[in-house]
Amino acid sequence: MKTPPSTISVSRRRFLAQMSAAAALLLAPRRSRAVNPSPKPRKLGVALVGLGGYSTYELGPALRLTEHCRLAGVVTGSRKKGRKWARDYAFPEENIFDYETMGRLAGNPDIDFVYVVTPNSLHAEHCIAAAKAGKHVICEKPMATSVADCDSIIAACRKAAVRLTVGYRLHYEPHHAELARLAREKVFGPFMRMKGANGFDMDSSATARTFWRLDKKLAGGGPLMDMGVYVVQAACMAKVEAAPVAVTARFGPVTRPEVFSEVEESIEWTMEFADRAVANCRTTYTEQVSNFRAEADHGWAQLEDPAFYYDEPLLTTSQGPVKLPRVNHQVAQLDGMAMELLEGRPSLAPGEMGRRDVAIVEAIYAAAAGGRRVEVSA
Ligand code: NDP
Repeated sequence: MKTPPSTISVSRRRFLAQMSAAAALLLAPRRSRAVNPSPKPRKLGVALVGLGGYSTYELGPALRLTEHCRLAGVVTGSRKKGRKWARDYAFPEENIFDYETMGRLAGNPDIDFVYVVTPNSLHAEHCIAAAKAGKHVICEKPMATSVADCDSIIAACRKAAVRLTVGYRLHYEPHHAELARLAREKVFGPFMRMKGANGFDMDSSATARTFWRLDKKLAGGGPLMDMGVYVVQAACMAKVEAAPVAVTARFGPVTRPEVFSEVEESIEWTMEFADRAVANCRTTYTEQVSNFRAEADHGWAQLEDPAFYYDEPLLTTSQGPVKLPRVNHQVAQLDGMAMELLEGRPSLAPGEMGRRDVAIVEAIYAAAAGGRRVEVSA
């Protein structure tokens, strides 16, 4: 694991000065207020839902390094795993929950954020349960497997007056943030021609029965849901978060039918934007690939391979390589989201953005299935 330089260097004085009254309340240690008259700001408590690969190898370790949040509990189908996490991360066993009893989170003052890291089609159920328990929600990508589920999550969070964000780590990563700045400030003019790809080579022994990413019901789709969503994100970022007006798409060939019996093996698509900008994109479970390039009339910017992996992306522009700090993506995201909440700022990755991307993904699937251009209503 790389050591993260702090991306969020806010001095404590400035930090406290900027806090809203609500944030100040949230930060005060709830149990020791009487014995500690000048308390250190409390780190926000995060509960991870689903202790699989991403939680175990990335988010859990990142929560040991974060400045503004910490792991305070887990939701898991395995009590045994939960106990091990409680020992490893030093939180009380009463902060271990299961999926059926997430409602009990409501009475737990240690937990501020619930971070849903389960298979894609379960995100809606788990996010809604977290919102009903009055907890702020971070939902992993893709936000859900349908726009209807995204709407249900958004409605539940609004009703409970909790914050909803999507685990889009790259919005907190300096090279991607620089791409967003170049777009926003039109440094080379508006980006008009974009190209990107993201994928990995799926193990040939995996099947829909043995791996949820290949199971249409749990994954919602193939590499487009899993890896392609990053290319969709980058293209929208290069268009200052505008959604495309229409898409065309086609599925790639199926070279391993026993692996890809339910979801696509690869897919390529074109996004058309209102100003006639075009993004040609592809995603695959058959090749390790990860890149993105955006061209404008007076220059270009390129995220070198691997553009979307945890390894450090390199950004080159028509003016040369861009030197930026290296960060641990998950630490930057978690601390970034904690600070957004504490300072009462809008999130860089709100639920509406997750919904936009699922709407685009749905349109891409419809375009590929129907062999026609599909307008996007995001
Ligand atoms: P894993 O398969 O490794 O873990 C998923 C976990 O979800 C399981 O370990 C299990 O945890 C829980 N779970 C609950 N119900 C089920 C079920 N029916 N089938 C399988 N697992 C279940 O997946 P990942 O950790 O790789 O991915 C989880 C989510 O995180 C996905 O939405 C994925 O897109 C996203 N992700 C995001 C990344 C990013 O860079 N932002 C990177 C990797 C993943 P338990 O045993 O504790 O109940």
